[in-house]
This record gives sequence, structure tokens and C-alpha cells, in this order.
Amino acid sequence: MKKIIVIGSGFGGLAIASRLLSKGFNVTLLEKRDKLGGRAYVYEKDGFTFDGGPTVITAPFLFDEIFEAAGKKRKDYVTFVPCDPFYRIFDKDGNTFDYNGDHDFVLSEIEKWNPADKEGYTRFLKSTKAIFDKGFTELADKPFLSIWDMLKVAPDLIKLQSYKTVYQYASQFIENNFLRKCFSFHPLLVGGNPFQTTSIYAMIHYLEREWGVHYAMGGTGAIVNAMELLIREQGGVIHTEAEVDKILIEEQTAKGIRLKNGEEYDADVVVSNADVAFTYRHMIPESKRKKYTNRKIERTKYSMSLFVSYFGTKKRYLDSDLAHHNIILGDRYRELLEDIFNRKELAEDFSLYLHMPTKTDPSLAPEGCEAFYVLSPVPHLDSDTDWTQQAKPYRDAIIQFLEENYLPDLEENIIVEHHIDPLHFKKTLNSYKGSAFSVEPILTQSAWFRPHNKSEDVDQLYFVGAGTHPGAGLPGVLSSAKIAEDLICGKYR
Ligand SMILES: Cc1cc2nc3c(=O)[nH]c(=O)nc-3n(C[C@H](O)[C@H](O)[C@H](O)COP(=O)(O)OP(=O)(O)OC[C@H]3O[C@@H](n4cnc5c(N)ncnc54)[C@H](O)[C@@H]3O)c2cc1C
Repeated sequence: MKKIIVIGSGFGGLAIASRLLSKGFNVTLLEKRDKLGGRAYVYEKDGFTFDGGPTVITAPFLFDEIFEAAGKKRKDYVTFVPCDPFYRIFDKDGNTFDYNGDHDFVLSEIEKWNPADKEGYTRFLKSTKAIFDKGFTELADKPFLSIWDMLKVAPDLIKLQSYKTVYQYASQFIENNFLRKCFSFHPLLVGGNPFQTTSIYAMIHYLEREWGVHYAMGGTGAIVNAMELLIREQGGVIHTEAEVDKILIEEQTAKGIRLKNGEEYDADVVVSNADVAFTYRHMIPESKRKKYTNRKIERTKYSMSLFVSYFGTKKRYLDSDLAHHNIILGDRYRELLEDIFNRKELAEDFSLYLHMPTKTDPSLAPEGCEAFYVLSPVPHLDSDTDWTQQAKPYRDAIIQFLEENYLPDLEENIIVEHHIDPLHFKKTLNSYKGSAFSVEPILTQSAWFRPHNKSEDVDQLYFVGAGTHPGAGLPGVLSSAKIAEDLICGKYR
């Protein structure tokens, strides 16, 4: 049996570990932190359970496939329930737009804002199906290892207007300013600026409609636990608090890894689920890197970072206007994104995602209590913000805003709290520049232009996860594992 080391236990790492075990490989998974999940790490305190990262489950079949490959059924391990609405989006004055997978319902919501946009939305949806068929169904789980792979799809990309941004694309169909934001914010879910990201990402809205938006009962952490159990049942070996220091390379071929504590593991194949830029920059000496030189890594554009505050309240907020998934858009939108992505300035205002999972699943908090998390996109560490000083006032401003507009008497009702900021992404998750979604998803950093799933510098080294093709978000990282599995199995067939 060939020996495979997987570095990191984000969803990309968990998925490739299980997929390769199903194919009969001998797999050892090494995770730096004390628990598995990566960005989906779970914080537990005083009876509250907070999912640290992903909360919106789309394309659930990508999880089902992993269990099926192992001869199991996902629903025997973890239960998914649909969310309705998918999202509730608030404008600066608290007016709402809800959407879900029911076309007539979405049209009735559009009617509230601008009846003339109903027809445009129907055309928008139809056109994003073509993007989805190409960009997701056909290409998301295919490797882009040669320039020819890219040239072959170039005519389709031009036909689909991938040279436009998502915002420009949506605006061709939608007139109303607020609705334009509602149908173009999706790149933010994978670390992209709707005003810069290729219109291919307009397919995320179609993908949500195709399979729905789901929630895992017990939280996303329940999926991590289910995958951990599956991997152990399959005979995989898992070590936590096992930080990889170096990938051992002989004659440009990966031969194993060395941990920070000096322990060495030999391997026939190494798969890195750690941040791609970090893997190249810190685990492989520059003399062994022809393509991913320090200069190239520095010149790559990285996605924004996040400030996330997790808080539990001693009362429930059942009579609030909030849904399970809420997006609260501020007055400034394009300019705020310009501050975050290009000017790299921490603004005083914000646009927020507010998660209220206890609306669906009260088991995440003690009886009579509510669990929340609020997330604000912020610049990555090139902004020079001193988060050791800035985190507290930034948190206070967000909590005050929520108290004044959505959750009365919030501050006095908070009994449990935790937060993460760009320093967490850098120091705890080893993400280059503290980026929350790794390499920024722009056209010139997508598909063949993105770090490949098979290393271009070192043989027998593969990549899964947000920084490699096809990109961030759960559907992206799970697809990257599918690609890496095909490449590795192809090699040993
Ligand atoms: C707050 C937040 C909310 C999000 N919400 C959603 C959502 O609702 N839906 C969605 O689809 N996506 C969401 N995303 C994006 C999604 O969570 C990520 O793209 C995805 O989880 C990343 O998975 P990954 O496979 O790249 O691994 P990661 O989760 O990045 O994990 C990488 C792992 O590698 C480990 N590691 C790093 N270096 C080493 C080393 N040297 N040795 C050993 N281990 C190491 C890290 O500790 C980590 O556990 C969200 C992201 C964030 C941050």
C-alpha cells in the first residue's frame, strides 16, 4: 500500500484523506491544532457551541459522495436540513429582501423593491445556468495542469462574458441598486470583491438554487466529527497537535515530512491542505522552487481577511426580524470594498453577515439562550492595522450597531464571547498575510492561473483547499479533493 501524508484537516484535507482511504491507500492526517476542521474549528464554552467558520452548506451531494465512496451513507452520520429563506438581506434602513429556491417567492420579494426587475431577474437566472453548466458541472472538478486546458475553455469563457465582473454582469439584468447588490454579493463568500471578480462567480446564486442552502444539525462541526469518524473507521491515522515544519524532498520529489518536534514520516505522496503560499514559502526551501519563488508568492493577490465575533446571550431574541442567515449591508458598499481589497484601510463602517443558528437548532445554546456570530470583512495584514489594539474598539462598534438596530440590550445580555481577527488567520491557521480565503479569486488567478492541484515545483506533492483550483468555499475545496484523488489514482493506476 502506498503511504500518503495529508497536511491539514480543513474540509479539503478531510475529503482527500477519506477519498484516498476508499481507494485503498494508507493515509496519515497531520493537523497543527488540537482539533480537526481548519476554518470550521468549533469553539465550545459554558454550554454554547459556535461554528468558527463555514455555516452555509451548498452542494451537499459533494459530502454524500465521500461517504458513498466508503460504502456508507452520509445521513447515518450527520443530518442536513434546508434553510428557508436562504438569506435575509437588510439595507441600511433595515428594509429586507429574502430569497430561497422558489422562483415565485423570489419574484414577490423583487416586486417589493422594483417590479420592473422581475423580468430581468428571470433572464439573469437563465443566463447563470449556462455559466453554472460550464463553470461548475463541467470544469470545477477538472484539473487545469497545462496551458492547453485553459486555451480549450477560453472561447467558452469569452462567450459567457467572464471578462465582466459579477457586479457588471448582474447589473445588465437588474436596475435597482439594492437588488444589484443582492444578486452580486456572492463572491464575498469565497473571498472575492464583486467589483473585481470574474462573472463566472455569478453561478454561485444558481448553485444555491439548484441544491438549496442547508444547515447541518449540531452545526458544521457535526460534519467535521462525521468525517473524522469515517476516516477512523476506514483505518486512517489522525494526529492532532502535529505541526509540519518541512516537506522532505530528494531529487525534486516529496519523500515525507518533518514535524516541528523533529519527528519524521516517510511517504510516497504528500498532499498539502495547508495554505498554498505558506506551504511553498515555509515548508519547501526556495532552492527547490522554480515557479513559486518568494517573489511570485509576494506578487500574488490574496483575498480579504475577516473579523468574527462569536457571542452567546442569556436571553432569546425570537421576536427579532432576524433569520438564520442575515446579511446587513451598510450605506457604503463599493467604497467599503475598495477600502478592504485595494486601499487596504480598516474603515469605520462595515457590512455584516450575522449568523443566528439557534433559530434552527436551539441545541447550540443552553435553554433560554441564543448563540450568534457576526462577521465583518476587513483588509488582510498588508493594511498594517494593529489588531492587538484595534480588535476591542472594532468589536465594540459592531456590538453597539447590532444593539441599536437589531438586538436590544445586547451588551448586557452577552454572557459568553470570543473573537478572531486577521492575526488568527496568520498565526493559528498559517494563512499568508492573514487572508481568510487564500489566493484572491480574480480571472488572472483562476483555473490554470491558480496554484495547481499537482505541484509545479515538486513531484509527488499535491494540493487541496482554498488556495488551489477551483477555489475557496466548501464546494470548491471538496472539488479540489476530487481532482487530487483523480490525479493520484491516475498516477498509480
Ligand atoms: C469565518 C468564515 C466563514 C465561512 N463561511 C463559509 C460558508 O458559510 N460556506 C462556505 O462554503 N464557505 C465558507 N467559508 C470558506 C470555507 O470555510 C473555506 O474556504 C474552507 O473551509 C477552507 O478549507 P480548506 O480545505 O482550504 O482548509 P482550512 O480550513 O484552511 O484548513 C487548513 C488546515 O491546515 C492546518 N495547517 C496549516 N499549517 C499546518 C502545518 N504546518 N501542519 C499541520 N497542519 C497545518 C490548519 O491548522 C488548518 O486546520 C468561510 C470561511 C471563513 C473563514
